Amino acid sequence: MRKPLIAGNWKMNGSKASVTTLLEGVVGGMQDLSNVDVAVCVPFPYLEQSERMLKGSAVALGAQNLCTESGGAFTGEVSASMLLDFGCHVVICGHSERREYYGEDDAIVAAKIAQAVSAGLRPIFCVGETLEQRQQGETDAVIAGQVDGVIERIGIEIFRKVEIAYEPVWAIGTGMTATPEQAQDVHAFIRARIAALDPEIAAGIRILYGGSMKPGNASELLAQPDLDGGLIGGASLDATDFLAICRAG
Ligand code: PEP
Repeated sequence: MRKPLIAGNWKMNGSKASVTTLLEGVVGGMQDLSNVDVAVCVPFPYLEQSERMLKGSAVALGAQNLCTESGGAFTGEVSASMLLDFGCHVVICGHSERREYYGEDDAIVAAKIAQAVSAGLRPIFCVGETLEQRQQGETDAVIAGQVDGVIERIGIEIFRKVEIAYEPVWAIGTGMTATPEQAQDVHAFIRARIAALDPEIAAGIRILYGGSMKPGNASELLAQPDLDGGLIGGASLDATDFLAICRAG
């Protein structure tokens, strides 16, 4: 059985003061949450503070990005080993905001996933279609392209150590959530695509849903057979909302 993972993506939000309040709230509400894995992906400057605050808790620390290279002359970049040094366990790769605003293509996303796994981090590999692509009936083709674009470069075996997040771009931060049926269809499609290459990896891999998941819609989404958790943006910035989603997992 796949244990659900609920991961918060704080994006570029926070301050030392708000991180303290948020993590105190999350850690303080974790008692009844042994059936779900929980992680928070924080901005780089708050890794040290978060590592300290999460010590001894069941909340895993994560980052939102990493460099394609392992070290050296890459000004402004952060390596996988640096993330590990600050106690990270997970890292988001290929978020649609990175693809859209920072030009990350499948080759870059594949290189980041490979870096993360070789350092011992678990990547959360994000895929998802735009509204226009969905309206044109291109959802399956887009998702297949993003999944295959990584597998072709780094192989299927690495997916034993990867989480996938299906995040329809039109649902991220918009308040428009995919219906449970729409999400389930795409999750099943992704699992089948992987199963065609390796049924064992497909059966074990966690596929999270992301896109305006909130306490009010989390249970219905997470009840779908191929939804194994959530990647939570806006609602992860409020401890009460985030914990309510974790409880629905
Ligand atoms: C995200 O950014 O990964 C996300 C799912 O955001 P939101 O929950 O705010 O839609």
